[in-house]
Amino acid sequence: MSQTVSILGAGESGIGAALLAKQQGMHVFVSDMGTISPARKRELEEAGISFESGKHSEDQILNTDVIIKSPGIPDTHPLVKKAKAAGKTPISEIEFAGKYTDAKTILITGTNGKTTTTTLVHHVLSQNGINAGIAGNIGTSLARSIAEGPKRDVYVIEVSSFQLDGMFDFSADISILLNITPDHLDRYDYELANYVDSKFRVIQNQQKDAHFIYNADDPIIEKKLEPLDLPMNKWPVSTSKTLSELGHLGGGIENNQLHINTQTEPFTMKIQELALQGKHNLFNSMAAGVTAKLFELRKEGVRDSLTNFENLEHRLEFVAKVHGITFINDSKATNTNSAWYALESMDKPVIWIAGGVDKGNEYDDLLPLVNEKVKAIICLGKDNKKITKAFDGVVAEIVEVTSAEDAVRMAYDLAFKGDAVLLSPACASFDLFDNYEDRGHQFKKAVKGL
Ligand code: ADP
Repeated sequence: MSQTVSILGAGESGIGAALLAKQQGMHVFVSDMGTISPARKRELEEAGISFESGKHSEDQILNTDVIIKSPGIPDTHPLVKKAKAAGKTPISEIEFAGKYTDAKTILITGTNGKTTTTTLVHHVLSQNGINAGIAGNIGTSLARSIAEGPKRDVYVIEVSSFQLDGMFDFSADISILLNITPDHLDRYDYELANYVDSKFRVIQNQQKDAHFIYNADDPIIEKKLEPLDLPMNKWPVSTSKTLSELGHLGGGIENNQLHINTQTEPFTMKIQELALQGKHNLFNSMAAGVTAKLFELRKEGVRDSLTNFENLEHRLEFVAKVHGITFINDSKATNTNSAWYALESMDKPVIWIAGGVDKGNEYDDLLPLVNEKVKAIICLGKDNKKITKAFDGVVAEIVEVTSAEDAVRMAYDLAFKGDAVLLSPACASFDLFDNYEDRGHQFKKAVKGL
C-alpha cells in the first residue's frame, strides 16, 4: 500500500510538499485552517490532490503515515501536540524533500543575513559553472524545486529556525550559521537557549566529510560550540581576527583584505572590491567565499562574482541622492541587530527612521552608535514610547510620524548636504504597512517624489 501523507498549511512549502509527495506515488491530503488561494487550489486540483480549508479533520490527519507542517504552525498547536502524542511528530517540508534528492545541500541559517547569503552563495556557484538551485524560505520550496526540476547538482537552501525545528534526519553537506541574536522568542518559551538549540539543528547529523561555516565573532555561537566535539570540518569566519588567529583555517581579515583558506589554494580579496559593503556583509561574503573554495572554484571567477553581485532590495539599498542627501532603504531590518549593522556601516551623519512593531527590543546596544552618528530620529510607528524613551537626551531631535511620505519629507527638512537618511526600523512593519516590502516601496516612492 502506498504511504499516506497529511500536510498542514497550504502555503508555498505545503503545496511544494504535496506536489512532491504525489509525484512519489503517495496518498496526499492538504489541510489549511484558513483559506487557500484560488491559484493554489487550482494547482492542487490539477495534480489530483485532495484538500480542505477552514478546518483540520483531525482523525483523518492523525491516521496518515507522515505529517508535514508549515513553519508558520507552532509546536503548541493542539493538533501538533496530538500528533506528537500519537508518535507522529510533524516534519518540515525541507526534511521531507531532502529524502528525494541526491544533490548536495547547503543549508543557510542565522538570525540575520539568510536571504542575502543564500542569494550570494547561489550567485557565486552558478556564475562559476555549478548547476545550483536556490530554495527554501527564500521563494520556491525545496520540495517544489525537486518535483518540478530542473535537476540540480547542488541546492542552496535558506532555512528558518521554524523549519529547522521540524528537521530530524536531514544532513547538510555544508551548513552555514551566520549569527544568533534574540528573535522570535515568543515561539521558544522566551528562552534564548531554546532558540539557540533550534539554530544549531543546522549541523545535526553532519559527519566527517561535511562542512560547517560559522561566525567566530558571535559570542552565542562560540559559547555553544565550546563544549562540543563535532566530527565535521569547521570553518570559522571572523571580521575581527586574522586568518592566523583562526588557526589558518576559515576566513579572516588583515590589511583590508579578506583571506580564506580551506586547505586548498588560499584566496584573498580587497574588501573595497566586494559588492556588499558593511561589516555584516563581510560575514556573508566570507561565508560565500569559503563555500566557493570548498567547491574548488577558480579564484578569478570567485572574485568576479563577489564583485558583480547585485544587492537585494530593502537591504541597505541605495535609493537616491537628492541635493547631496543620500537615502538608504533597509526596511528588512526588523530587529535591533540588523539596525546596529546598518548604523555601523554609515560614514555620514544620519537621520534615522526607525520604529514599528517592536518584538521585545532592547535599545541599549545601539546607544553608542546612535550617540556617535545619529543627528535625528524619525519614529515611524503607531507606538513609539520605547524608542523615544531609549534615546531621549542622546539625540537632539526625535519626531513622530505615521506615514513613509511624512517620514521622508521630515528627514529631508532636517538633513543637510552630506547627510544620510537611513530607513532601518529595527521593528516589524505591521502597524502601518502590509509588510517590510510595502514599507520599503512606500519609502522609495516618497524619496523619488521629493
Ligand atoms: P534574513 O533573511 O535572515 O532576514 P536578510 O538578508 O533579508 O536576512 O537581511 C535582513 C536584514 O539584516 C537587512 O537589514 C540586512 O542589511 C541585515 N543583514 C544582512 N546580513 C547580516 C548579517 N550577517 N548580520 C546582521 N545583519 C545582517
